[in-house]
Amino acid sequence: MPNLAWKDALQRRDPPAVAGAASAEFDPTLWTCSVCGKVRARDLLHSKAILGRQTLVCAPSCLGAERRANGR
Ligand SMILES: [Zn+2]
Repeated sequence: MPNLAWKDALQRRDPPAVAGAASAEFDPTLWTCSVCGKVRARDLLHSKAILGRQTLVCAPSCLGAERRANGR
């Protein structure tokens, strides 16, 4: 069911409050997309080989991840 993707994103719209801003420095669940440079939740990214190196990029695409991040 492809429609589960947006439903999944909707459920993630309100993450549990993070105690203190210090934890924003390194969050293992957040990674930066190598293509658009935006910080995404790990499950909005997939690994892709760029120039022979495994990097994390938005999945299915930068635009797609943006929509999923917005819960649409
Ligand atoms: Zn991206």
